[in-house]
Amino acid sequence: MLTKAPRGTKDVLPSDIYRWTYLENMFRDICEKFGYREIRTPIFEHTELFKRGVGETTDIVQKEMYTFTDNGGRNITLKPEGTAPVVRAFIENKLYADVQPTKLFYNTPCFRYERPQAGRLRAFHQFGVEVFGASNPSVDAEVISIAMTFFESLSLNNLELKINSIGCSKCRKDYNKVLKKFLQERMDNLCKTCVERYEKNPMRIIDCKNKDCQEVLNDVPLITYYICEECKDHFEGLQKILTLMGLGFEINPRIVRGLDYYNRTAFEIISKEIGSQSTVCGGGRYDGLVEDIGGPETPGVGFGLGIERLILTLEKNNIEIPTPRGLEVFIVAMGSRAHDKALEISYKLRKNGVSVDIDHLGRSLKAQFKYSNKLNSLYTIVIGDDELDRGTISLKNMDTGNQEEIKLDSVVDEVIERVK
Ligand code: ATP
Ligand code: MG
Repeated sequence: MLTKAPRGTKDVLPSDIYRWTYLENMFRDICEKFGYREIRTPIFEHTELFKRGVGETTDIVQKEMYTFTDNGGRNITLKPEGTAPVVRAFIENKLYADVQPTKLFYNTPCFRYERPQAGRLRAFHQFGVEVFGASNPSVDAEVISIAMTFFESLSLNNLELKINSIGCSKCRKDYNKVLKKFLQERMDNLCKTCVERYEKNPMRIIDCKNKDCQEVLNDVPLITYYICEECKDHFEGLQKILTLMGLGFEINPRIVRGLDYYNRTAFEIISKEIGSQSTVCGGGRYDGLVEDIGGPETPGVGFGLGIERLILTLEKNNIEIPTPRGLEVFIVAMGSRAHDKALEISYKLRKNGVSVDIDHLGRSLKAQFKYSNKLNSLYTIVIGDDELDRGTISLKNMDTGNQEEIKLDSVVDEVIERVK
């Protein structure tokens, strides 16, 4: 127990962290280019927020939340997704009183009690964006284009963008009647969760992953063909803009997304290579959510993008993330006088922005050189008693093998000049 992490969790080790920082920096850069600003919300929230904000008929609320009572008797849940907390923060901090739209992005851990498998963890991470205060389809297109730009910047060009419109509360009413009539005759073949969904949110049944349910749904009537004129205009507007942007897409009327609060646009970006957990990014519009949680009537649209699934997709496509350059300088020191000098020089160099390491284990000269190689250092400084007596050090360029003598009192300047 003590030396085993809980099921469904994963360490990111130092040997792998460069991929994460690379992706994080790239995502941040792209969002900022699109005029989005970062928001960070706490890891946990009141359970009530997710019940309301994600929806009672969702898998997340029904079976996946990490919920506990804290010492003050509060009902708390670890963030299972990013949208509800951002909506809460938008309302609580009155961001709606600022110039609209509010364009936000985030990078957050998420927690869901699910059956762990490739691309499905219990502790995972999401990038996401949310836009509040604009209902024009150009915003839906902008949100989608952020994700597509990100994938393109990673040379992931074979992902599929699937879009749908799931209408609004107005058209959903009529559609639900048709849908319920269809489902009523097939209730015996639906899973228990879907039977529960039948009353509260029958459209969610279309998203059920149960095989028997999927069979029932083979010829289910789909909302796309029942949406009202306004929703139709919105959906056509989105398609027009995506086409203008040169983004290929496919309309898939079966995409209804996992959360209760979606309306109009729903979309998924799929990687066929990563098997059954193939949705790398999913999102859509949620015009009623802000009001539902207690804020002013405010439209919203956003997406969540699973970082672990993204990394899996990159691996399956043999896309390498550039490895970072190694250490700039390693100092090999022989003898205690030299070691003291090495400490002094290393500190000065570090303060001047040069990455430096030295031996702390009393290694032999040969072993220190070997260690310097392993750290992939650009330069190795050698300090020994002889050098100290002469008032010099020797500086070796590890790529060319070229070695030069440098005056001890100018070593910091000389090294900075070569490294920068
Ligand atoms: P799925 O249909 O695969 O269960 P979802 O609809 O539950 O996904 P969302 O709630 O939309 O997923 O989350 C957005 C993204 O977060 C997903 O597209 C996926 O990339 C990622 N994601 C969701 N659940 C997990 C998980 N348990 N482990 C790793 N990544 C996940
Ligand atoms: Mg899920």
